[in-house]
Amino acid sequence: MSTAAAGDPARGSTFGPGRGATTPKIELHVHLEGTVRPATLLEMARRNGEELPARDVEGLAKLYRFRDFDHFLQVWVMTTHVMRTEQDFRQVVVDYAAEAASHGAVYLEGIFSPWFRVQRGIAWEAIFHGYADGAQEAWERYGVEVRLTPDVDRILPLDAAREIARQAVRFRAEGLDAIVGLGLGGPEIGHPPAPYAPAFAIGREGGLPAVPHAGETGGPESVRSALDDLGAHRIRHGVRAVDDPELVAELAERGTVLDVCPVSNLRTGVVTSLADHPLPVLLAAGVRCSLATDDPAMFDTDLGREHAAAAALGGVAARDLYEAGVAGALCDEATRARLVAIGAATDWAAAEAMPAAGEDYVRT
Ligand SMILES: [Zn+2]
Repeated sequence: MSTAAAGDPARGSTFGPGRGATTPKIELHVHLEGTVRPATLLEMARRNGEELPARDVEGLAKLYRFRDFDHFLQVWVMTTHVMRTEQDFRQVVVDYAAEAASHGAVYLEGIFSPWFRVQRGIAWEAIFHGYADGAQEAWERYGVEVRLTPDVDRILPLDAAREIARQAVRFRAEGLDAIVGLGLGGPEIGHPPAPYAPAFAIGREGGLPAVPHAGETGGPESVRSALDDLGAHRIRHGVRAVDDPELVAELAERGTVLDVCPVSNLRTGVVTSLADHPLPVLLAAGVRCSLATDDPAMFDTDLGREHAAAAALGGVAARDLYEAGVAGALCDEATRARLVAIGAATDWAAAEAMPAAGEDYVRT
């Protein structure tokens, strides 16, 4: 393989290096269920006797060509049913840490949605301990710090949301230090954040800050509610804040970090083309933005391609993305100091000087 090919994300290897594979990366918005590559998902389905709506890698790849956000959620629910055992959850974290480390990841915050698993008879303990054991193994094997934020699905009844918050707080109190926050996900339109405030109060009182999705398919009012009603520490996506200049100014002033996922936004139709993505506008307005893959296996992306896509937009510096990640991470201060030191030891100028790939390698 030539040197040029090795550095070209267009070459399509899932684990191939993207722009600056050696530059450190922090990813704060990745759904662990959405990291499982098709071959592994098929293997898990076989192991657990679960049906998938496709029988091979090609079939799953076809299934992953989403018509819109709702279609994506339908497929997500269908395919994530195959994860059933503590060993599955552990493996998902370790596999993704290996993949992300190949793109330079040093710190990840993984999201998982326990509710639908519990409804299918899986114990809370298997889910939380499986993911937390995976976080420990990811550190030991790949040197990647993994923290976890269980997600409340915004279509759930409010008592279910409170139960997820209570369980997350319980596992944290029992010593699962990898559990660091509580998220809100699922269909944003018609499901505003405010009713979930009591669940997030439980989380906050138990030491788990709110990291909700908002401003993805919903508008600025959704971001506003996530901040005011849930006390959001960060906002996942948050890109539609761009439609309200006052809100953008406030996000910049407060230093609220947005966990931005350009390829996801393209795949689910939040933006019609990468060139239209609001990331450069938000950065230029002083909003701190980190970069993430959201559901990399389903969106045919990875951390390297995500960074290449962001670089191709112009006005996006790898160092700013990293520093926003440091600022937004829900880690202890010793870990944050370590992340700061990694950033300080990086030759960012050399990384920026690397030619940024065009966006043509991203399937449209
Ligand atoms: Zn997400």
